Amino acid sequence: MERVCLDCGAKLLGRSDKKFCSDQCRNNYNNRLNRDQNNYVRNVHAQLRRNRRILSDLFDDGHHRIHRDALIAQGYNFTFFTHLVETKEGLRWSYCFEYGFRESGKGYLELQKSSNYLEIEPEADEA
Ligand SMILES: [Zn+2]
Repeated sequence: MERVCLDCGAKLLGRSDKKFCSDQCRNNYNNRLNRDQNNYVRNVHAQLRRNRRILSDLFDDGHHRIHRDALIAQGYNFTFFTHLVETKEGLRWSYCFEYGFRESGKGYLELQKSSNYLEIEPEADEA
């Protein structure tokens, strides 16, 4: 059976366990694998950034109560958030970075911006 380079498809000569015709092709192949895995992380980050921008634009424009459909219409995706905070009073806030919202009835959300980071434990080596 003819063996070919996994990257460029060139015919392979020599050792039977060879998969690539050159180091360049091995690098291309491995970079492509990494890129596919990194794409997942990049896409999640992109959605989180979009969510944050939507919340920050609204909040900074003075909208502190908004219907969830208005967020969705702007491309907000409720699947992606960074953390949840439950207050002593039992209110559940869903955060996208420093911007949070909670259900306030009939599809409306109350927005707030957190100015403290107390709920986030600092990394041990930064303490
Ligand atoms: Zn090749």
